[in-house]
Amino acid sequence: MKLKTLSIVKITPKLLLNFIQLPFKKVQKPCTYCPGICISVCPTFINTGNLSLSPLGYSRYEDLGKDNCLKCWRCVNECPLNYPLPESYASEVKLDLEVLKKGEIILLSARKLDDKYSDRLSELLGTGLISINGLHERYDEGRPVNPSSLKKILKVLKNYGKVYTISPESFHTLSVSLLIENLAEFSIRLNYNGPIHIPCLLLSREEKIVRSLISIGVRPTKIIRDQCLKMEEPEGLSLCPRASMRNVKTIFDEILASLSC
Ligand code: SF4
Ligand code: SF4
Repeated sequence: MKLKTLSIVKITPKLLLNFIQLPFKKVQKPCTYCPGICISVCPTFINTGNLSLSPLGYSRYEDLGKDNCLKCWRCVNECPLNYPLPESYASEVKLDLEVLKKGEIILLSARKLDDKYSDRLSELLGTGLISINGLHERYDEGRPVNPSSLKKILKVLKNYGKVYTISPESFHTLSVSLLIENLAEFSIRLNYNGPIHIPCLLLSREEKIVRSLISIGVRPTKIIRDQCLKMEEPEGLSLCPRASMRNVKTIFDEILASLSC
C-alpha cells in the first residue's frame, strides 16, 4: 500500500480491527470492508471527484461500473484483499489459443489488442507466433476468464521454452515474459530520448522495464505512471500497443522502425 493512500485514510480502532480481519474475509458486493483505500488510485474518481465513479460506486451499482470503470486494475493493486472488481461486470469469457507459426522463440499475440504490431514483429524478429483470443474482453468489458480455458492455455504454453508478449494484458493474465524486458536478446538498439509512459498493468514492473530499455539505448527523461491511456492520451512514448488506437507513438513503432532499417 502506498504512503499517498494511507494519508487519505483516517485510522480508527474499528478500522484497525477490520484490517486485521481482512485476510479472513471474502469480499462481497457491495464492498464495505474498508473506507475505500482503492479510491485514491482510481482514474475516474481522481478525474471527477465523484464517489459514484469510484470502486465504491462501481461495487454498489454494476451498471455504472460496466459503463465507466476503465478496467485498469489500479484499484486491485491497492486493495488488501486484491478484490478483482474490474472483472466483475459480466459473464465469463473463454480464452482460445491458436498456433499461427512455429518457432524456437514464440511471440504471443493478444488479438484485438496488439494486431497492429504482432504479425510484423514476429516476422522481423524471426519468432513463432501464438494468438490468444478473448483476452481483450477481460480488460474491455470486465469479464472474468473461464478457469478451465485458462488452465488449458497455461499447459500449452509450458511446452514452449521462451514466450514473449507485447501486451500488458497477456503479461497480467498469463504471466508471460514481456518482450520489452528482453529486447537485448534480439540485439535491438533504440535511439529514443524522451518521456516514457508506463501502462497501468505494468506499474509493478517499472524498475525492471526501465533498466532493460536503458540497456538497449533508450534515454528516459521522465517516467509517466499516473495516466491511464483508456482515459487520456498519455504523454511520451507508450509501452502499450493499445496506445496506437489513440494515435500515441509506442515503443513497438520504434522497434519496427529500427528492425526495418
Ligand atoms: S479498475 Fe480502474 S477505473 Fe475501475 S474501479 Fe479500479 S481503479 Fe477505478
Ligand atoms: S475493494 Fe478492497 S480497497 Fe476497495 S473498499 Fe473494498 S476492501 Fe477496501
